Formats: sequence, structure tokens, C-alpha cells
Amino acid sequence: QLLRSPLRLEAMPGLPLPPALYGAQRQNSLGLDLAVDAMRAPLLQAHAATPVPPVALAETAQVDAQVRRALAAHPAWDGLPVPERAQRLRSAADRMQDALPRLAALLVKEAFKTWGDAVAEVREAVDFLRYYADEAVRIMQPVELPGPTGESNELRLASRGAWVCISPWNFPLAIFTGQVAAALATGNTVLAKPAEQTPAIAAEAVALLHAAGVPADALQLLHGPGETIGAALVAHPRIAGVVFTGSTPVAKAINLSLAQKDGPIVPLIAETGGINAMIVDSTALPEQVADCVVQSAFRSAGQRCSALRLLCVHEGIADAVIEMIQGAAREQVTGDPHEWRTDVGPVIDGEAYENIQRQLTRLHAQARPLLPPGDQPPATRLVPPQAFEIADIGEVRQEIFGPVLHVVRWRGDPKGVVDQLNALGYGLTLGIQSRIDTRALALAARAHIGNVYVNRNIIGAVVGVQPFGGEGLSGTGPKAGGPNYLLRFCAERTLTINTTAAG
Ligand code: NAD
Repeated sequence: QLLRSPLRLEAMPGLPLPPALYGAQRQNSLGLDLAVDAMRAPLLQAHAATPVPPVALAETAQVDAQVRRALAAHPAWDGLPVPERAQRLRSAADRMQDALPRLAALLVKEAFKTWGDAVAEVREAVDFLRYYADEAVRIMQPVELPGPTGESNELRLASRGAWVCISPWNFPLAIFTGQVAAALATGNTVLAKPAEQTPAIAAEAVALLHAAGVPADALQLLHGPGETIGAALVAHPRIAGVVFTGSTPVAKAINLSLAQKDGPIVPLIAETGGINAMIVDSTALPEQVADCVVQSAFRSAGQRCSALRLLCVHEGIADAVIEMIQGAAREQVTGDPHEWRTDVGPVIDGEAYENIQRQLTRLHAQARPLLPPGDQPPATRLVPPQAFEIADIGEVRQEIFGPVLHVVRWRGDPKGVVDQLNALGYGLTLGIQSRIDTRALALAARAHIGNVYVNRNIIGAVVGVQPFGGEGLSGTGPKAGGPNYLLRFCAERTLTINTTAAG
């Protein structure tokens, strides 16, 4: 089995061998993270004991009162010393770490995550809390600026007020927690609107933050549809900013609403989808490429914003790469996420399933299928890994949010491939597979893409290590989990004092 076997590093004269695959050594014989495997008993115990509790829906008529409560709570929360706020967020992180089995079980039950994905997501949420707590302490110190004699100058960061945090279902704990933690760490209060598909996990995160000392009015949760509750929050004249992660069309709708409403001009941080590609040149190793494709395109049922959608492979090794992908895809276990061995679980809901099926029908008519369609009944919402060979990069017009890969062959200069990818207008993630370092670096530099990965998979950005976010149709930045993220949640203020003695 490809994922279990050591890499076959075939000698290619004059070219270095690529490094070992990222993370490969941490996997057990089932391809599961070893640390996750070691937690099997407590995870399964938590799974049996954790129900998915119902939540109360918010009313649009309540939104104004809730915004006012968040504004009223702002002076007290903002007035806490930054280290004290940070300490409460760290305490929430510790509580979340302790609750890992229960939270992971809830992610499996409510968001249909596989066990490996669920555990990784809880860890990411904990990382966000700790990272933003530390970052707030680092950046929120006043900075003295040099100036002429007779005056002092100081630059400092201040919170803005009540932020609206709108999050998606595909990382319902990590993205939700990251947005909320960033706003709270910088002294803002929060009105959080999680995705309607995953309310219970958001409620758990909020309960942990409240228990850690974040006042109830400083962090309020509003469950309900984006079109009503989300839109009403965005349109409220007194909010201080919106941080949104989700689809590109909704980000544009929010941008429009913010532009048209009464009140001040407020910032929007938008992180959206992508048409993420991997460029494979003729020096790449087909086996390594296939492993990266499986991890990046098919795992998490393709429901990651960073997931691979388009493999651009040099014609010289295209057949070998496709054959390897076919072999690797056959090894993927598509099935019930509650099962320990499942690699590819169901997609989130019936609407997502129908959308993917419509795209698959179109692709079956227009492109060459490379993998068997499978015979899962629609009620399971299971989509086995799918791949289609297409003739031209320009045929990929929109993100298909499922385990569906496009493959296109190229010849000539790979810079032309980058130019075509840039022309798609998205800019989230890009993979480059090459054993020629100078070529990989030149392609990376040419790409208008937020996150570029060389000779590894293109998913799994680590907080503080690979700050994550796109450009163009993929979002506004700044990058989540990076040193500049908190700045956007703050107002910058200078204070100039005349220090010349009077008389
Ligand atoms: P979505 O845009 O449908 O919904 C996201 C959130 O917006 C939900 O909470 C929803 O209720 C709310 N919403 C919907 N309409 C709204 C409106 N008019 N006003 C205010 N809020 C509204 O996205 P989704 O289906 O939940 O998530 C999948 C999408 O998210 C994909 O496109 C994926 O690529 C993207 N995503 C991006 C990143 C990133 O970091 N770039 C991360 C995860 C997901």
C-alpha cells in the first residue's frame, strides 16, 4: 500500500532526492497519526458519552439588543490589562486541551470528521488561543517613536469595539475559535455567528471561554441562518468590524452590505475558497506526487479550503502519475466517519452532496474520468475520490467542495502554467513538485498565491508556522495564525505631547 510503504526514491542522475514525505513517519500501519492512535480508548469512550445537544436559534429582532450588550461590555473587557486577557484565553486553551476527547467526538458526530481530522482540529483551536494570547501581549505595548526635541511621540494599538465573527462548518472549532480569540485578545467584544450546520461545537467552545473568565456579554453566540442573522449583524450600524471565513460569493455580499450601511467604515477580514493547484514537473517522483494528491485532494472529503483541485502534470510523467493516483485512491476507505479506519467520510449535508453530484455529471460529460464513480447510495452522502482529465486549466471555473480532482497535462515552460493559474483569480494554496530547487523557487515567486508548498502536500497549515490566507478571490488577508493578523482587529493611534517647558 502506497501510504505505508517507504518511498521508492529512484535515482535520477544529477538531481538530489527529495526529503522524506511530510508527516509520513508519524503514521501507523493504517495511515493514522500515531498520537491519535494512542488516544483511541478515551476518544471512543467520549464518543459513546457525548450527545450532540440542541441549540436555541437567535431571532433577527434580538440582534440590535445583543450588539448593544456587546458594546456595553466593551469598556470593562478592553480595560483589563492585556496580560490578564491573555491569561484567560490561555486558561480556555487548557480547558479545551483537557476536553479534547469530548470535542473530537463532537466533531465526528456533528461535522462528520474522521478521527484524525477531529483531533487535529481540536489541537489547532488550542494553538490559536495560545498564539493570539501571546501575540496580543507582544504587539499591544505602546511604541515610542523618534521625533524632534520638545515633543514625545507614541504609537499604540487600541481595540475597535464589537466585532462580528462569521465562520464556516468545515473547521467549526478551529476557525470559530481562532476568529473569536483574535478579537478578544485585542480587547474587542464579539458577536459570533457559527455555521448553521455545526452549532453545538461552537456552543462548546463558547462555554469553555466563558468558564475561563470571558464575560457572557463580551462573547455572545447567535445561532441561525447566514442570510438572516449573519446579514443583520453585518448590517448593524454600530459594529466595529467583520471577520468572515466562508465562500467567495458570501464574502462579496458582506463587503457590499458593509459599504451600503449607515455608520462608520469598518474593516472586513475575509478568508474564502480557492482553486488550488499543484504543478508537477518531469523531475518529480510519481509516488510522492500521488501521496500528496491523496492527502491534499481526497482526505477530509476534499472539504478544506486549501484542498487540491487541479493537478498540472508534465506530459512526460503524466501517465505514471495518473497510474499511481489510481492505485493510491483505491486504498482510500470511504465510509462512516465513526469507524476508526475511515479515510474519506461523508460530505456535510444533502445540499453539498447534490452540488457535487451536479458537477460530477457535468465532468462525466465533458472530461475523461480517471477513477471509478463508486456506488454509494445518496443517503450516505459519501463521495468516493474522483478525478477527471481535462484539456485546459481555464476549464476549471469554480471550487468544487468535495474529493474531486482535475488533472491537466502541460509541456514547455512551467512559468506559463503559473501564469494560467494566476489568471484564474484565486490565490490560496499552490504545490510545486520538482527536484530542481531553482525552478521551484522561481515558480513560487511568480505565483500570486498566499501559501506555496514545495515537495509536500498543500494542506495542514500550522499556527505560527505557516500563517494561512489567500489573495484575489481567495480573501483579503492578513493571514490567520501569523504575526500580522491581530493588527487588523486594532485601531492604530498616535499620541504626540509637547514637552517644551512653558515660559
Ligand atoms: P458559506 O459562505 O456558505 O457560509 C459561511 C458562513 O457565512 C456561515 O456561517 C453562513 O451562515 C454565513 N453566511 C451565509 N450567508 C451570509 C450572509 N448573507 N451574510 C452573513 N453571513 C452569511 O461557506 P460554507 O459553506 O460554510 O464554507 C465553505 C466555504 O468556506 C468554502 O468556499 C471554503 O473554501 C471556504 N473556507 C475558506 C477558508 C480560508 O481560510 N480561506 C477556510 C475554510 C473554509
